Amino acid sequence: MPDQRAPLDLLLLPTWLVPVEPAGVVLREYGLGIRDGRIALIAPRAEALKHPAREVRELPDQLLSPGLINAHGHAAMTLFRGLADDLPLMSWLQDHIWPAEAKWVDEEFVRDGTELAIAEQLKGGISCFSDMYFFPEVASELVHKSGIRAQMTIPVLDFPTPGARDADEALRKGLKLFDELKLHPRIKIAFGPHAPYSVSDDKLENVRMLAEELDAGIHMHVHETAFEVQQSLELHGMRPLQRLASLGLLGPRFQAVHMTQISDEDIALLVESNSSVIHCPESNLKLASGFCPVEKLWQAGVNVAIGTDGAASNNDLDLLGETRTAALLAKAVAGSATALNAHSALRMATLNGARALGLDEQTGSLELGKQADLVAFDLAGLAQQPVYDPVSQLIYAGGRSCVRHLWVGGKQLLDQGRLTRLDEERIIANARAWGARIADQHSI
Ligand SMILES: [Zn+2]
Repeated sequence: MPDQRAPLDLLLLPTWLVPVEPAGVVLREYGLGIRDGRIALIAPRAEALKHPAREVRELPDQLLSPGLINAHGHAAMTLFRGLADDLPLMSWLQDHIWPAEAKWVDEEFVRDGTELAIAEQLKGGISCFSDMYFFPEVASELVHKSGIRAQMTIPVLDFPTPGARDADEALRKGLKLFDELKLHPRIKIAFGPHAPYSVSDDKLENVRMLAEELDAGIHMHVHETAFEVQQSLELHGMRPLQRLASLGLLGPRFQAVHMTQISDEDIALLVESNSSVIHCPESNLKLASGFCPVEKLWQAGVNVAIGTDGAASNNDLDLLGETRTAALLAKAVAGSATALNAHSALRMATLNGARALGLDEQTGSLELGKQADLVAFDLAGLAQQPVYDPVSQLIYAGGRSCVRHLWVGGKQLLDQGRLTRLDEERIIANARAWGARIADQHSI
Protein backbone atom coordinates (compact mmCIF):
# COMPACT_ATOMS: atom_id res chain seq x y z
CA MET A 1 0.00 0.00 0.00
CA PRO A 2 1.39 3.43 -0.88
CA ASP A 3 1.82 5.82 2.02
CA GLN A 4 -1.25 8.07 1.87
CA ARG A 5 0.60 10.85 3.73
CA ALA A 6 3.51 10.89 1.28
CA PRO A 7 3.49 14.08 -0.79
CA LEU A 8 1.77 14.02 -4.13
CA ASP A 9 4.05 14.48 -7.14
CA LEU A 10 1.48 16.71 -8.78
CA LEU A 11 -1.88 18.16 -7.82
CA LEU A 12 -4.10 19.31 -10.71
CA LEU A 13 -6.92 21.76 -10.05
CA PRO A 14 -9.19 21.90 -13.11
CA THR A 15 -12.52 23.70 -13.25
CA TRP A 16 -14.24 20.45 -14.25
CA LEU A 17 -13.19 16.87 -13.56
CA VAL A 18 -14.97 14.21 -15.63
CA PRO A 19 -14.02 10.78 -14.27
CA VAL A 20 -16.17 8.80 -16.82
CA GLU A 21 -16.67 6.21 -14.07
CA PRO A 22 -19.10 6.70 -12.37
CA ALA A 23 -20.99 7.48 -15.57
CA GLY A 24 -22.41 10.92 -16.30
CA VAL A 25 -20.61 12.71 -13.46
CA VAL A 26 -19.03 16.19 -13.67
CA LEU A 27 -17.10 17.23 -10.55
CA ARG A 28 -16.72 21.01 -10.21
CA GLU A 29 -13.84 22.54 -8.26
CA TYR A 30 -12.13 19.24 -7.53
CA GLY A 31 -8.47 18.31 -7.38
CA LEU A 32 -6.73 15.24 -8.78
CA GLY A 33 -3.44 14.15 -7.23
CA ILE A 34 -0.78 11.98 -8.86
CA ARG A 35 1.82 9.90 -7.06
CA ASP A 36 4.27 7.48 -8.75
CA GLY A 37 2.40 7.83 -12.04
CA ARG A 38 -0.94 6.81 -10.61
CA ILE A 39 -4.07 8.65 -9.51
CA ALA A 40 -3.66 8.96 -5.74
CA LEU A 41 -6.30 11.49 -4.81
CA ILE A 42 -9.63 12.84 -6.05
CA ALA A 43 -11.15 15.33 -3.62
CA PRO A 44 -12.90 18.70 -3.44
CA ARG A 45 -10.45 21.52 -4.08
CA ALA A 46 -10.19 22.77 -0.48
CA GLU A 47 -9.56 19.29 0.85
CA ALA A 48 -7.11 18.44 -1.96
CA LEU A 49 -5.08 21.55 -1.18
CA LYS A 50 -4.47 20.25 2.36
CA HIS A 51 -2.36 17.42 0.92
CA PRO A 52 1.33 18.21 0.54
CA ALA A 53 2.30 18.24 -3.13
CA ARG A 54 5.61 18.86 -4.90
CA GLU A 55 3.81 20.78 -7.61
CA VAL A 56 0.35 22.34 -7.76
CA ARG A 57 -1.08 23.31 -11.11
CA GLU A 58 -4.22 25.39 -11.66
CA LEU A 59 -6.17 24.49 -14.81
CA PRO A 60 -8.73 27.29 -15.06
CA ASP A 61 -11.59 26.82 -17.56
CA GLN A 62 -10.20 23.38 -18.30
CA LEU A 63 -11.93 20.02 -18.31
CA LEU A 64 -9.77 17.14 -17.11
CA SER A 65 -10.79 13.73 -18.40
CA PRO A 66 -9.15 10.36 -19.01
CA GLY A 67 -6.86 10.45 -22.07
CA LEU A 68 -8.65 9.47 -25.27
CA ILE A 69 -8.15 5.93 -26.57
CA ASN A 70 -7.91 5.44 -30.31
CA ALA A 71 -8.85 1.78 -30.49
CA HIS A 72 -8.09 1.22 -34.18
CA GLY A 73 -5.55 2.57 -36.62
CA HIS A 74 -2.58 1.95 -38.87
CA ALA A 75 -0.09 4.50 -37.59
CA ALA A 76 2.60 4.44 -40.26
CA MET A 77 -0.01 4.82 -43.02
CA THR A 78 -0.19 8.47 -42.01
CA LEU A 79 2.52 8.93 -44.66
CA PHE A 80 -0.10 7.85 -47.25
CA ARG A 81 -2.59 10.48 -46.06
CA GLY A 82 -4.42 11.81 -49.13
CA LEU A 83 -2.62 9.51 -51.58
CA ALA A 84 -5.79 7.82 -52.87
CA ASP A 85 -9.11 9.39 -51.96
CA ASP A 86 -12.76 9.03 -52.95
CA LEU A 87 -12.64 5.32 -53.83
CA PRO A 88 -14.54 2.23 -52.60
CA LEU A 89 -12.69 -0.10 -50.20
CA MET A 90 -11.61 -2.84 -52.60
CA SER A 91 -10.26 -0.62 -55.36
CA TRP A 92 -8.69 1.68 -52.74
CA LEU A 93 -6.91 -1.35 -51.23
CA GLN A 94 -6.09 -3.45 -54.28
CA ASP A 95 -5.30 -0.75 -56.86
CA HIS A 96 -3.69 1.87 -54.63
CA ILE A 97 -2.78 1.04 -51.04
CA TRP A 98 -1.40 -2.49 -51.43
CA PRO A 99 0.82 -1.52 -54.44
CA ALA A 100 2.03 1.61 -52.60
CA GLU A 101 2.82 -0.49 -49.52
CA ALA A 102 4.74 -3.02 -51.61
CA LYS A 103 6.82 -0.20 -53.06
CA TRP A 104 7.44 2.02 -50.03
CA VAL A 105 6.96 0.28 -46.72
CA ASP A 106 10.19 -0.61 -44.96
CA GLU A 107 11.56 -0.05 -41.48
CA GLU A 108 12.38 3.57 -42.14
CA PHE A 109 8.87 4.27 -43.48
CA VAL A 110 7.33 2.67 -40.39
CA ARG A 111 9.66 4.60 -38.09
CA ASP A 112 8.86 8.01 -39.60
CA GLY A 113 5.16 7.30 -40.22
CA THR A 114 4.57 5.99 -36.69
CA GLU A 115 6.34 8.97 -35.14
CA LEU A 116 4.16 11.33 -37.20
CA ALA A 117 1.03 9.45 -36.07
CA ILE A 118 2.04 9.45 -32.40
CA ALA A 119 2.77 13.18 -32.47
CA GLU A 120 -0.59 13.93 -34.10
CA GLN A 121 -2.40 11.71 -31.62
CA LEU A 122 -0.74 13.25 -28.55
CA LYS A 123 -1.62 16.72 -29.79
CA GLY A 124 -5.22 15.52 -30.20
CA GLY A 125 -5.58 14.31 -26.61
CA ILE A 126 -4.96 10.61 -27.31
CA SER A 127 -3.02 8.84 -24.56
CA CYS A 128 -3.37 5.29 -25.91
CA PHE A 129 -3.80 3.84 -29.39
CA SER A 130 -4.04 0.48 -31.07
CA ASP A 131 -1.79 -0.13 -34.05
CA MET A 132 -2.16 -2.68 -36.82
CA TYR A 133 0.73 -2.49 -39.25
CA PHE A 134 3.92 -4.04 -40.54
CA PHE A 135 7.21 -4.03 -38.59
CA PRO A 136 5.47 -3.76 -35.19
CA GLU A 137 8.91 -4.14 -33.59
CA VAL A 138 9.95 -0.82 -35.16
CA ALA A 139 6.68 0.94 -34.26
CA SER A 140 7.06 -0.32 -30.68
CA GLU A 141 10.40 1.50 -30.38
CA LEU A 142 8.59 4.77 -31.14
CA VAL A 143 5.90 4.00 -28.57
CA HIS A 144 8.61 3.35 -26.02
CA LYS A 145 10.46 6.57 -26.85
CA SER A 146 7.44 8.87 -27.07
CA GLY A 147 5.85 7.89 -23.75
CA ILE A 148 2.40 7.07 -25.21
CA ARG A 149 0.54 3.83 -24.34
CA ALA A 150 -0.35 1.33 -27.07
CA GLN A 151 -1.63 -2.03 -28.12
CA MET A 152 0.65 -3.24 -30.93
CA THR A 153 -0.69 -6.05 -33.09
CA ILE A 154 1.15 -8.78 -34.95
CA PRO A 155 0.04 -8.60 -38.61
CA VAL A 156 -1.22 -11.89 -40.08
CA LEU A 157 -2.17 -12.19 -43.77
CA ASP A 158 -2.28 -14.96 -46.38
CA PHE A 159 0.22 -13.23 -48.62
CA PRO A 160 3.78 -11.94 -48.12
CA THR A 161 3.98 -8.55 -46.41
CA PRO A 162 6.70 -6.00 -45.81
CA GLY A 163 8.73 -7.51 -43.00
CA ALA A 164 7.50 -11.12 -43.33
CA ARG A 165 7.65 -13.67 -46.17
CA ASP A 166 4.53 -15.42 -44.86
CA ALA A 167 2.19 -15.63 -41.86
CA ASP A 168 4.47 -18.13 -40.10
CA GLU A 169 7.37 -15.71 -40.20
CA ALA A 170 5.14 -12.83 -39.04
CA LEU A 171 3.99 -14.93 -36.08
CA ARG A 172 7.53 -16.04 -35.24
CA LYS A 173 8.72 -12.44 -35.18
CA GLY A 174 5.58 -11.43 -33.27
CA LEU A 175 6.16 -14.02 -30.56
CA LYS A 176 9.71 -12.77 -30.12
CA LEU A 177 8.34 -9.24 -29.70
CA PHE A 178 5.74 -10.51 -27.25
CA ASP A 179 8.51 -12.04 -25.19
CA GLU A 180 10.69 -8.94 -25.28
CA LEU A 181 7.89 -6.58 -24.28
CA LYS A 182 5.84 -8.67 -21.88
CA LEU A 183 6.99 -6.55 -18.93
CA HIS A 184 6.79 -3.19 -20.70
CA PRO A 185 4.62 -0.82 -18.65
CA ARG A 186 2.97 0.83 -21.67
CA ILE A 187 3.00 -1.66 -24.53
CA LYS A 188 0.64 -4.60 -24.89
CA ILE A 189 1.01 -7.03 -27.77
CA ALA A 190 -2.01 -8.58 -29.49
CA PHE A 191 -2.64 -10.52 -32.69
CA GLY A 192 -3.85 -8.66 -35.78
CA PRO A 193 -5.23 -11.04 -38.42
CA HIS A 194 -6.14 -8.52 -41.13
CA ALA A 195 -9.69 -9.57 -42.11
CA PRO A 196 -11.79 -12.69 -42.71
CA TYR A 197 -11.24 -12.36 -46.48
CA SER A 198 -7.44 -12.13 -46.22
CA VAL A 199 -6.67 -14.83 -43.63
CA SER A 200 -7.41 -18.55 -44.11
CA ASP A 201 -8.90 -20.94 -41.54
CA ASP A 202 -5.63 -22.70 -40.67
CA LYS A 203 -3.90 -19.41 -39.87
CA LEU A 204 -6.87 -18.23 -37.81
CA GLU A 205 -6.76 -21.46 -35.83
CA ASN A 206 -3.11 -20.84 -35.17
CA VAL A 207 -3.89 -17.29 -33.98
CA ARG A 208 -6.64 -18.58 -31.68
CA MET A 209 -4.33 -21.12 -30.11
CA LEU A 210 -1.52 -18.63 -29.52
CA ALA A 211 -3.86 -15.90 -28.22
CA GLU A 212 -5.34 -18.34 -25.75
CA GLU A 213 -1.95 -19.53 -24.59
CA LEU A 214 -0.61 -15.98 -24.13
CA ASP A 215 -3.88 -14.41 -22.98
CA ALA A 216 -3.50 -11.86 -25.79
CA GLY A 217 -6.10 -9.87 -27.69
CA ILE A 218 -7.23 -10.56 -31.27
CA HIS A 219 -7.84 -7.40 -33.31
CA MET A 220 -9.44 -7.82 -36.75
CA HIS A 221 -11.39 -5.94 -39.42
CA VAL A 222 -14.78 -7.71 -39.55
CA HIS A 223 -17.95 -7.01 -41.55
CA GLU A 224 -16.51 -3.84 -43.02
CA THR A 225 -18.63 -4.04 -46.20
CA ALA A 226 -21.67 -5.86 -47.56
CA PHE A 227 -19.39 -7.35 -50.24
CA GLU A 228 -17.28 -9.05 -47.57
CA VAL A 229 -20.36 -10.67 -46.05
CA GLN A 230 -21.68 -11.75 -49.46
CA GLN A 231 -18.34 -13.24 -50.49
CA SER A 232 -18.10 -15.21 -47.24
CA LEU A 233 -21.58 -16.62 -47.73
CA GLU A 234 -20.53 -17.79 -51.20
CA LEU A 235 -17.15 -19.22 -50.17
CA HIS A 236 -17.80 -20.53 -46.66
CA GLY A 237 -21.59 -20.80 -46.53
CA MET A 238 -21.68 -18.49 -43.51
CA ARG A 239 -21.29 -14.88 -42.48
CA PRO A 240 -17.74 -13.85 -41.48
CA LEU A 241 -18.56 -13.43 -37.77
CA GLN A 242 -20.21 -16.84 -37.72
CA ARG A 243 -17.12 -18.35 -39.35
CA LEU A 244 -14.89 -16.73 -36.73
CA ALA A 245 -17.20 -18.04 -33.99
CA SER A 246 -16.98 -21.55 -35.41
CA LEU A 247 -13.18 -21.27 -35.39
CA GLY A 248 -13.33 -20.28 -31.70
CA LEU A 249 -11.94 -16.76 -32.14
CA LEU A 250 -14.72 -14.81 -30.44
CA GLY A 251 -14.47 -14.02 -26.73
CA PRO A 252 -13.65 -11.15 -24.37
CA ARG A 253 -10.25 -10.80 -26.07
CA PHE A 254 -11.80 -10.36 -29.52
CA GLN A 255 -11.92 -6.86 -31.02
CA ALA A 256 -14.17 -6.68 -34.11
CA VAL A 257 -13.30 -3.53 -36.05
CA HIS A 258 -16.02 -1.85 -38.21
CA MET A 259 -19.07 -4.19 -38.03
CA THR A 260 -21.13 -2.12 -40.44
CA GLN A 261 -23.25 -5.09 -41.56
CA ILE A 262 -24.96 -6.62 -38.53
CA SER A 263 -27.83 -9.07 -38.23
CA ASP A 264 -29.64 -10.00 -35.01
CA GLU A 265 -27.70 -13.30 -35.07
CA ASP A 266 -24.43 -11.34 -35.23
CA ILE A 267 -25.46 -9.30 -32.18
CA ALA A 268 -26.31 -12.49 -30.31
CA LEU A 269 -22.83 -13.88 -31.12
CA LEU A 270 -21.16 -10.69 -29.88
CA VAL A 271 -23.19 -10.65 -26.66
CA GLU A 272 -22.72 -14.36 -25.93
CA SER A 273 -18.98 -14.19 -26.49
CA ASN A 274 -18.54 -10.81 -24.76
CA SER A 275 -16.54 -9.56 -27.77
CA SER A 276 -15.94 -5.83 -28.31
CA VAL A 277 -16.78 -3.79 -31.40
CA ILE A 278 -14.54 -0.95 -32.56
CA HIS A 279 -16.50 1.63 -34.49
CA CYS A 280 -14.69 3.73 -37.15
CA PRO A 281 -17.46 6.01 -38.44
CA GLU A 282 -15.45 8.41 -40.61
CA SER A 283 -13.56 5.67 -42.44
CA ASN A 284 -16.87 3.86 -43.01
CA LEU A 285 -18.47 7.07 -44.30
CA LYS A 286 -15.57 7.93 -46.60
CA LEU A 287 -15.33 4.45 -48.14
CA ALA A 288 -19.16 4.23 -48.21
CA SER A 289 -18.85 0.93 -46.35
CA GLY A 290 -22.07 1.22 -44.33
CA PHE A 291 -23.16 2.13 -40.81
CA CYS A 292 -22.44 0.40 -37.53
CA PRO A 293 -25.67 0.37 -35.46
CA VAL A 294 -23.98 1.69 -32.33
CA GLU A 295 -27.11 2.33 -30.28
CA LYS A 296 -28.49 -1.13 -30.99
CA LEU A 297 -25.19 -2.74 -29.93
CA TRP A 298 -24.98 -0.52 -26.85
CA GLN A 299 -28.53 -1.43 -25.82
CA ALA A 300 -27.74 -5.12 -26.29
CA GLY A 301 -24.81 -4.74 -23.87
CA VAL A 302 -21.94 -4.96 -26.38
CA ASN A 303 -18.83 -2.95 -25.48
CA VAL A 304 -18.40 -0.42 -28.32
CA ALA A 305 -15.10 1.49 -28.59
CA ILE A 306 -14.03 3.94 -31.26
CA GLY A 307 -11.10 4.31 -33.66
CA THR A 308 -9.99 6.68 -36.38
CA ASP A 309 -8.68 3.92 -38.68
CA GLY A 310 -5.60 4.86 -40.72
CA ALA A 311 -5.07 8.38 -42.05
CA ALA A 312 -5.10 6.96 -45.59
CA SER A 313 -8.84 6.37 -45.24
CA ASN A 314 -10.06 9.05 -42.83
CA ASN A 315 -7.85 11.32 -43.25
CA ASP A 316 -6.96 12.46 -39.75
CA LEU A 317 -6.23 10.88 -36.38
CA ASP A 318 -8.63 13.19 -34.58
CA LEU A 319 -10.46 10.99 -32.08
CA LEU A 320 -12.44 13.86 -30.57
CA GLY A 321 -13.75 14.75 -34.04
CA GLU A 322 -14.44 11.07 -34.66
CA THR A 323 -16.44 10.90 -31.41
CA ARG A 324 -18.57 13.84 -32.48
CA THR A 325 -19.23 12.12 -35.83
CA ALA A 326 -20.11 8.93 -33.94
CA ALA A 327 -22.54 10.76 -31.66
CA LEU A 328 -24.28 12.42 -34.62
CA LEU A 329 -24.30 9.32 -36.80
CA ALA A 330 -25.65 7.08 -34.00
CA LYS A 331 -28.73 9.29 -33.80
CA ALA A 332 -29.31 9.21 -37.56
CA VAL A 333 -28.85 5.42 -37.76
CA ALA A 334 -31.09 4.76 -34.72
CA GLY A 335 -33.67 7.34 -35.83
CA SER A 336 -33.51 8.70 -32.29
CA ALA A 337 -32.04 11.96 -30.99
CA THR A 338 -31.44 10.36 -27.60
CA ALA A 339 -28.98 7.79 -29.01
CA LEU A 340 -25.34 8.03 -27.82
CA ASN A 341 -25.51 11.18 -25.68
CA ALA A 342 -22.39 13.27 -25.02
CA HIS A 343 -21.38 11.41 -21.84
CA SER A 344 -21.81 8.02 -23.54
CA ALA A 345 -19.78 9.25 -26.50
CA LEU A 346 -16.93 10.27 -24.18
CA ARG A 347 -17.14 6.90 -22.44
CA MET A 348 -16.85 5.19 -25.83
CA ALA A 349 -13.67 7.21 -26.52
CA THR A 350 -12.11 6.36 -23.14
CA LEU A 351 -13.21 3.51 -20.87
CA ASN A 352 -14.82 1.37 -23.60
CA GLY A 353 -11.58 1.61 -25.59
CA ALA A 354 -9.58 0.50 -22.56
CA ARG A 355 -11.94 -2.42 -22.04
CA ALA A 356 -11.72 -3.49 -25.69
CA LEU A 357 -7.91 -3.53 -25.49
CA GLY A 358 -7.91 -5.34 -22.12
CA LEU A 359 -6.46 -2.27 -20.38
CA ASP A 360 -9.44 -1.18 -18.26
CA GLU A 361 -7.75 -2.04 -14.99
CA GLN A 362 -5.00 0.44 -15.86
CA THR A 363 -6.60 3.27 -17.80
CA GLY A 364 -9.79 4.68 -19.37
CA SER A 365 -11.27 6.44 -16.32
CA LEU A 366 -10.16 8.65 -13.45
CA GLU A 367 -10.23 6.26 -10.51
CA LEU A 368 -7.87 5.89 -7.59
CA GLY A 369 -5.00 3.52 -8.34
CA LYS A 370 -5.31 3.76 -12.12
CA GLN A 371 -2.51 5.12 -14.27
CA ALA A 372 -2.57 8.91 -14.53
CA ASP A 373 -3.47 9.00 -18.25
CA LEU A 374 -5.15 12.40 -18.49
CA VAL A 375 -6.05 15.11 -20.94
CA ALA A 376 -6.95 18.73 -20.15
CA PHE A 377 -9.24 20.50 -22.64
CA ASP A 378 -9.46 24.28 -22.57
CA LEU A 379 -13.08 25.46 -22.81
CA ALA A 380 -12.29 29.19 -22.47
CA GLY A 381 -12.44 29.86 -26.23
CA LEU A 382 -15.04 31.86 -28.08
CA ALA A 383 -16.54 28.85 -29.84
CA GLN A 384 -17.20 27.08 -26.53
CA GLN A 385 -19.14 29.94 -24.89
CA PRO A 386 -21.23 29.87 -22.83
CA VAL A 387 -20.57 26.62 -20.96
CA TYR A 388 -23.79 25.11 -19.59
CA ASP A 389 -22.65 21.50 -19.77
CA PRO A 390 -18.90 21.04 -20.25
CA VAL A 391 -19.14 17.48 -21.63
CA SER A 392 -21.72 18.53 -24.20
CA GLN A 393 -19.50 21.49 -25.08
CA LEU A 394 -16.49 19.23 -25.51
CA ILE A 395 -18.23 16.71 -27.79
CA TYR A 396 -20.47 19.02 -29.83
CA ALA A 397 -18.62 22.36 -29.83
CA GLY A 398 -15.05 21.39 -28.94
CA GLY A 399 -12.22 20.20 -31.13
CA ARG A 400 -8.67 19.04 -30.85
CA SER A 401 -7.53 22.67 -30.81
CA CYS A 402 -8.93 22.66 -27.23
CA VAL A 403 -6.31 20.12 -26.08
CA ARG A 404 -3.82 21.84 -23.72
CA HIS A 405 -2.07 19.20 -21.65
CA LEU A 406 -1.69 15.44 -21.68
CA TRP A 407 -0.13 12.98 -19.25
CA VAL A 408 0.53 9.25 -19.64
CA GLY A 409 1.38 7.35 -16.48
CA GLY A 410 1.84 10.73 -14.79
CA LYS A 411 4.45 11.91 -17.33
CA GLN A 412 3.53 15.09 -19.14
CA LEU A 413 3.80 14.55 -22.91
CA LEU A 414 1.97 17.72 -23.96
CA ASP A 415 2.37 21.05 -22.17
CA GLN A 416 0.40 24.10 -23.35
CA GLY A 417 -0.13 22.27 -26.64
CA ARG A 418 3.62 21.63 -27.11
CA LEU A 419 5.08 18.14 -27.37
CA THR A 420 7.56 17.61 -24.55
CA ARG A 421 9.47 14.60 -25.92
CA LEU A 422 9.07 14.72 -29.69
CA ASP A 423 10.54 17.24 -32.10
CA GLU A 424 7.58 18.51 -34.10
CA GLU A 425 9.62 20.41 -36.69
CA ARG A 426 11.81 17.41 -37.48
CA ILE A 427 8.75 15.13 -37.76
CA ILE A 428 7.11 17.53 -40.22
CA ALA A 429 10.31 17.78 -42.27
CA ASN A 430 10.59 13.97 -42.44
CA ALA A 431 6.96 13.63 -43.52
CA ARG A 432 7.44 16.25 -46.23
CA ALA A 433 10.50 14.46 -47.55
CA TRP A 434 8.55 11.18 -47.76
CA GLY A 435 5.66 12.98 -49.45
CA ALA A 436 7.94 14.46 -52.10
CA ARG A 437 9.57 11.08 -52.81
CA ILE A 438 6.25 9.19 -52.99
CA ALA A 439 4.46 11.85 -55.10
CA ASP A 440 7.37 11.87 -57.52
CA GLN A 441 7.06 8.16 -58.25
CA HIS A 442 3.39 7.49 -57.59
CA SER A 443 2.22 6.53 -61.07
CA ILE A 444 -0.97 4.72 -60.10
ZN1 LIG B 1 -8.31 -0.46 -40.44
